[in-house]
Amino acid sequence: MHEMSIALGVVNIADKAFQEAKAQRIDSITLEIGQLAGIQLESLYFVWPAAVEGTVLQGAERIIEEREGRALCLECEREFTLQHHFDACPHCNGYFKKIIAGKELNVKSLAFTLAEEAAPAPSKTR
Ligand SMILES: [Zn+2]
Repeated sequence: MHEMSIALGVVNIADKAFQEAKAQRIDSITLEIGQLAGIQLESLYFVWPAAVEGTVLQGAERIIEEREGRALCLECEREFTLQHHFDACPHCNGYFKKIIAGKELNVKSLAFTLAEEAAPAPSKTR
């Protein structure tokens, strides 16, 4: 199930950003996933709890922004939305097209709580 490796990749990215920000915790993570990226969201939701357990993302809110697939038809030169790579142009039924959106797989943003914003520590050692 490649959604598991995707989830673990997201954990790695979040962990790196977390270390760099010297954050206290991650409140939420926003993923941008295109409908043509080849990711089953149901599978991603299914593996997510196991992937984030014991990591910086445990307890973080997971926000997923789906991006619809869009293509430019090379035959009639009109844009259209598509659910699958092999969908034909709805205007001319042409199959030659250029995918212009929908293959995104990004960690769009992370919301941190920084150490200073958390409950004040009795002494600063750093
Ligand atoms: Zn067309």
